Amino acid sequence: MLTVLECINKSADYLAAKGVECARTNAELLLGHLLKCNRLDLYLKFDQPLSENEIELYREFLKRRGMFEPLQYIIGSVEFYGLKIKVTPSVLIPRPETELLVETVINSVDKEDELNILDIGCGSGNISVALAANFPNSIVTGIDISADAIKIAKENAGLHNLSSRINFSLKDILKDVSFDSKKFDIIISNPPYVSEMDFEKVQPEIKNYEPDVAVTDHSDGFVFFRKISGISDKILRQQGMLFFEVAVNQSDHVKKILLNNGFENINIVNDYQNIERIIYGIKN
Ligand code: GLN
Repeated sequence: MLTVLECINKSADYLAAKGVECARTNAELLLGHLLKCNRLDLYLKFDQPLSENEIELYREFLKRRGMFEPLQYIIGSVEFYGLKIKVTPSVLIPRPETELLVETVINSVDKEDELNILDIGCGSGNISVALAANFPNSIVTGIDISADAIKIAKENAGLHNLSSRINFSLKDILKDVSFDSKKFDIIISNPPYVSEMDFEKVQPEIKNYEPDVAVTDHSDGFVFFRKISGISDKILRQQGMLFFEVAVNQSDHVKKILLNNGFENINIVNDYQNIERIIYGIKN
């Protein structure tokens, strides 16, 4: 019978041999998920034997991870801005860079403001949920082209008791730009910004498992930045703010797009790797 420690050691070796980075951490996180405890608690259970059933399930997890399925899809959730967000292969896995996008909004407006917010390409609903949770007087509209994503996003709003202030709906912003509500105070988007050319080079974890539609525009990478900036006259109020997450080397061009569409006071925020990652401006 294998103990927790033996399991971790064996599986860390297995994942390392498959070429998975941070193999031991992965092994611990998967076992922690299985045993419903956090990684640190595993250290208190080192001598505990695992049941046959647990070993069987753990083996399944390891097999999937060994084939480079992202850890977050196996575990089924991710922590985003301090909130637990359910994820499935129908949605992009929320990234730490996107927490910076949320933080930038939080640092730019008054917490008590009655904001009408639009999140374009909401995916799992991570951004909408984090903003609704941090702006208690806000109303958030989240749209996405994927019906499966909208389903997950609704679940996430429910999980955090925010369904009454978040309205998720199916919409392709490239085809339909009509909204029932009054003009928005804030528009935010982390759109599919990988160009067709760069999409060839993305990591296998992304390419093989995350939804293409959330990652690439199958064009030059700027399709959504142009579209959203272009329709801002119609859907964003004067002095309203637009926040984007961008890819490496996109900020200069996105800044031009924003300037051409009547935005001013444009700011850029660098991420943890010092990459220009967040860009935002005020509608003139
Ligand atoms: N809004 C989600 C996120 O930021 C999904 C983005 C997307 O699918 N491109 O993680």
